[in-house]
Amino acid sequence: MIINEKKGLLSNFFKPSIYVRTFKDINVNRLKNHGIKLMICDLDNTLVPHYTKFPNKDVHEFINKVQNSGIEFVLMSNNIKKRVSIFAKKAGITKFIWNAQKPFKTKVKKIIESRNELESSEIIFVGDQIIMDILIANRFKCESILVQPLVSTDYKMSSFNLFLENRIYKNLEKKNILKKGNFSKGKIGEYFELL
Ligand SMILES: [Mg+2]
Repeated sequence: MIINEKKGLLSNFFKPSIYVRTFKDINVNRLKNHGIKLMICDLDNTLVPHYTKFPNKDVHEFINKVQNSGIEFVLMSNNIKKRVSIFAKKAGITKFIWNAQKPFKTKVKKIIESRNELESSEIIFVGDQIIMDILIANRFKCESILVQPLVSTDYKMSSFNLFLENRIYKNLEKKNILKKGNFSKGKIGEYFELL
């Protein structure tokens, strides 16, 4: 099944290319073979819980795997400079953006435009929130990986965002596009082939 098949305009903006339980389930070799050259990854509740200051062994392993495969890794978070820079430095990440203002385009656009040799299909976003991480990917027609939030984000999201996120999950499930907890195996498009 084609990844960006039209299934209602709005739903398309919220549809990830891949849906996995955790970043540890991401098959980096498959991404590499698919032609991915840049990974733009969220921090809070994607790599570590929002209250965890430093990267753990799994995060180190994942970032090493991505970078060793030749895929560039950029950390992009809506959180503040202190939080993002401390984490990035501990993780050995040289490219990081704080206050990214996802899902707004301005800051993300800068990153993408600075790599204008890349096609949008060679860029993949990773994140735990549909209304932030997946929406911004789709706005740039890039690939995306939705992960299950490491901890409940309920307390941190504004009630409006939480309402929206839950509505979107329900809507995607109703349209048979994505079911919460029904994960793919890490291959782009595979989730949708399974349906
Ligand atoms: Mg997040």
